[in-house]
Amino acid sequence: MAKLYFRYGAMNSGKSTALLQAAYNYEERGQRVLLAKPAIDTKGASQIESRLGMTREVDFLIAAGQSAREVFGQERTKAREGGSDIACLLVDEAQFLEPWQVDDLFRIAVEDDIPVLAYGIRNDFLTHAFPGSGRLLAIAHTLEELKTICRCGRKAVFNGRRIGDRFVFDGDQVAIDGVAVAYESLCGHCYLQESGGRLG
Ligand SMILES: [Zn+2]
Repeated sequence: MAKLYFRYGAMNSGKSTALLQAAYNYEERGQRVLLAKPAIDTKGASQIESRLGMTREVDFLIAAGQSAREVFGQERTKAREGGSDIACLLVDEAQFLEPWQVDDLFRIAVEDDIPVLAYGIRNDFLTHAFPGSGRLLAIAHTLEELKTICRCGRKAVFNGRRIGDRFVFDGDQVAIDGVAVAYESLCGHCYLQESGGRLG
């Protein structure tokens, strides 16, 4: 039986780089993979962009309200008709999936027997789980943390939102387009220092 993997980390922990590397590892062995991401992520639209400058088009987007398993099934059928089956599904920005779409990924792994590697951010700038991440943490067979370091050298676990040089602690979970926000990966100690002790 194939498994659903959730590889999570703070911002800037190299998730997209790790995803592209995993895809490459399959393809080097002559195996075919599919790359997907939720359609909500507008930056780069249909591309997976790594911080190291590599980019790659996804094979399909998962729109809000759309069955991830259904759209995966259509893409898999196309691949089979072209003479090759799919060895693995890789999903970037998985935090933005709806919980039931994560259930779809679980079914793809368990019932369709295709390994699914989902990459995403565990928590938002107020330390709450993203809907997709919360569900992935609950049901993925395997959890793997991609680590990154806070400015102080400790392991970063939170994502502070900054506007200019100021950290902000209110606003929507996903920043509205046009508002210039940046994120800094922070350890628990530095997060509490910046938030004045507020957690969530
Ligand atoms: Zn720190």
